[in-house]
Amino acid sequence: MQRYLPPGLTASEMDRALRAFAAVVGDEWVLATDTDRDTYLDHFAVDESAHAPAAAVAPFSAEEVSAIVKLANEFKVPLWPISRGKNFGYGGASPRLRGSVVLDLSRMKKIEFDIENGTALVEPGVGFYDLYDYIQEHKLPFWMSVPGNSWGSVVGNALDRGVGYTTYGDHTSRICGMEVVLPEGEIVRTGMGAMSNAPTWQAYRYGFGPAWDQMFVQSNYGIVTKMGMWLMPAPESMLGFEIEFDKADDLEWIIDVVGPLRREGIVQQAPSIGNWLRAAAVLTSRTEWYDKPGALPESVIDAIRKRFNIGWWGLSTRFYGPLDITEATSKVFERAFNGRSVMSMKRVRWEQGDPPELSAWAGVPITFPLQNASWHGGRGGHVGFSPVLPMNGRRALEQFHRTYDRYNEFGMDYHGSFALGERHITNVNQVLFNKDDKDMMKRVDGFFRALVNDANEKGYGEYRTHLDYMDLVANTYDFNDKALLRLNERVKNALDPNGILAPGKSGIWPTRYSGERHS
Ligand code: ADP
Repeated sequence: MQRYLPPGLTASEMDRALRAFAAVVGDEWVLATDTDRDTYLDHFAVDESAHAPAAAVAPFSAEEVSAIVKLANEFKVPLWPISRGKNFGYGGASPRLRGSVVLDLSRMKKIEFDIENGTALVEPGVGFYDLYDYIQEHKLPFWMSVPGNSWGSVVGNALDRGVGYTTYGDHTSRICGMEVVLPEGEIVRTGMGAMSNAPTWQAYRYGFGPAWDQMFVQSNYGIVTKMGMWLMPAPESMLGFEIEFDKADDLEWIIDVVGPLRREGIVQQAPSIGNWLRAAAVLTSRTEWYDKPGALPESVIDAIRKRFNIGWWGLSTRFYGPLDITEATSKVFERAFNGRSVMSMKRVRWEQGDPPELSAWAGVPITFPLQNASWHGGRGGHVGFSPVLPMNGRRALEQFHRTYDRYNEFGMDYHGSFALGERHITNVNQVLFNKDDKDMMKRVDGFFRALVNDANEKGYGEYRTHLDYMDLVANTYDFNDKALLRLNERVKNALDPNGILAPGKSGIWPTRYSGERHS
C-alpha cells in the first residue's frame, strides 16, 4: 500500500514522530503497517485514498493523550481523534486531511455511574454495547438512547450530534461535563468539573462563566477524554404507534398533525417519518426486484410495498412514563389523526415486567439497519445528506419533491426520512451505492453537490456531513461574508497555533493548512 503523509512533512520526520509516540504508548500501540492503515480507511468513501491516514496511535489515558499532543506540536504532526471510528456515511475513522495520524481512543473504556441521578461518566472507547452490558450487569434502572447503528461510541456519537429514538434522543443535548485535552496538551474539565472533586460535574451543565461543552462538539478545539451523559429512568410503560401512509404527498399533513404535538411537549421523542425504502432496504435487496440501472420505476416500488405491506411513508412514535400518562398521551395522539386516512395504525404497548422490546425505542443497541448498505449488492456504502428544515408540512413536502426529482435525475433510489424535533425537522437522506458499480460511483459527487445547492437556495443547511463535503457545507453558512467561519478559525488559531488538531474538521482550517481548503 502507498504511504500517505501530511503536506510539508517528510517520511523520516513522520517516522521520528511515530517513534516518539511509541515511547509514550508502547510500540504495540503505534499502528503503522499497511493492514493497520487499511483498518482506518473510510470504506464507504467514494475515494478512500482522499482521507488515508499515515498511521494510528492508541493511548490509554488522558495523560498519554496529553503527552502525544505535546509531541505532535513538536513534530508538527496533525492528529485526528476518533472514539470508535464507526461514523460511517460521514467519514468512518478517516481524517479530513490525508496523512494525519489517527488518535484512536478506543482503548479508553472506563465507565463511572451515578445510580442516584442516572448519569454516566464515560471514556471515548465506551461503545453503546459496553454501556448497555454495564447497565444490565449492574441491574441499573436506566435506559440508554442508542442510534440506529449502535456499533459506535457514546462519546463519538454525541460529538457528531448523532441521534437516538427515546426522549433522550438528542444526544448532544444530554452531555453534562467533559474532560478535554486542549490542542497544546493541557487537560481541562468543563462545567462543575472545573472545581476539584465537585459532586455536581454530571448534574449541572454550566458551571460558572461561559459554558464550553458545545464548543467541543463538531469542532477541532479539543480531544474529549471523558464525557458526562444523562440517562432516562427506566419507565413504567412505553406505549406508541406504528403508522403506514399510502401516498407520498401525505407527508405534508402528517407533519402538520404531529408537529404541534411536539411543540406542546405531548410527544417527547422525535418521531421519524421514513419512506418505503428505509423499511425495505433492511428486508430485501434491489437485485431481487430489478436488474436495470437508474431509479426504480413506480411499478417495482408498488410490488415491494405490497410484498412487505409497507406504506410510502411509515411513522413510528413512543411515549414513556407512568401508564396513566402514556395512556392519556396515546389518546391525544390518536385523536389528532381523527378523520385522516391512514393505511394502517398499529398500537405498541410495553409495561414493566414484559419481556424487553429489543429495539432502539427501548434503548437497546442494534445494528441491523446497517444492512441497507447491501441494497444494491456489491461492496455497499452510503453517504448522508441531512438538511435542517423548519417544522412546516408544506415546506417539507416541497423539499421532498425537490430531493426526489434529483434522485430520479441521477438514477438513484430515494431513501429519506424526516425526524421531527421540537421546532425543526432533520431530513436525513441516505445515498445508497454500490462501490463496484463504476457508473453509479461517478454520479455520486455531482448528485450530492446538487442536493446541497438545492437546499442552500432555500436556506436549509446540513446538520452534519461527510469529510468530503465539510468545506462545501461550511461555505453555505455564509451570513456577513462567512463571519461564523472566520470566528471559528480565529478561535482555532488561538487554541491551536501549530494547527495539529483535526485540521479541516467542519471546514475549520488552521492557518498552517489553509491551502488545503477546497470547495
Ligand atoms: P463513533 O465512536 O461513534 O464511531 P467516531 O469515533 O467515528 O464516532 O467519531 C465521530 C466524530 O467525532 C469524528 O469526526 C471524530 O473526529 C469526532 N470525535 C470522536 N471522538 C472524539 C473525541 N474523543 N474528541 C474529539 N473529537 C472526537
